[in-house]
Amino acid sequence: MAVTGLGPYDDNNIFARILRGEVPCKRVYEDAFALAFDDIHPRAPVHVLIIPKGKYVSLADFTAGASAEEVGGFFKAVGTVAKQFGLEETGYRILANMGGNGHQEVPHFHVHLFGGRALGPMLLQ
Ligand code: AMP
Repeated sequence: MAVTGLGPYDDNNIFARILRGEVPCKRVYEDAFALAFDDIHPRAPVHVLIIPKGKYVSLADFTAGASAEEVGGFFKAVGTVAKQFGLEETGYRILANMGGNGHQEVPHFHVHLFGGRALGPMLLQ
C-alpha cells in the first residue's frame, strides 16, 4: 500500500529494520553512505534498491537534511552500483517514488535501479 502523507521518520519501516540488520536482504553494495540490495519483487532482471544510511523519508527531506557529503556519497553509490552491474554499457533507469501520487510504499528515501532488459518508454507498468 502506498504511503499517503509522509510524516516524521518511522523507525520501524522495513528499510530501517534492514539497516539495523533485523531483517535480511540480498546486499549487493554497501559503503558509509548507502546500502544497496535486491528488490524482493523484481520488475526487471536487475532491480536494486539503493538507500541512504540516514533517516530520510523523501528526496526533499534528504537533500534538505543531509550534509553535502551524505548526498554526494549517496548518489556516487547509485552510479557505482549501475557500473557494478554493467549497466553503463546497456542502459538503465533510476526512479524514486514519493508520497501518494508517486505510490511510495516504504517511507525511507530510496532509488530503484532497473536494468538488464529494454525497459520501454518512461513508466514501468
Ligand atoms: P516504493 O516505496 O513504492 O518505491 O517501493 C518499495 C519497494 O520496496 C518495492 O519495490 C518492494 O518490492 C520493495 N521491498 C519491500 N520490502 C522489501 C524487502 N524486505 N526487501 C527488499 N525489497 C523490499
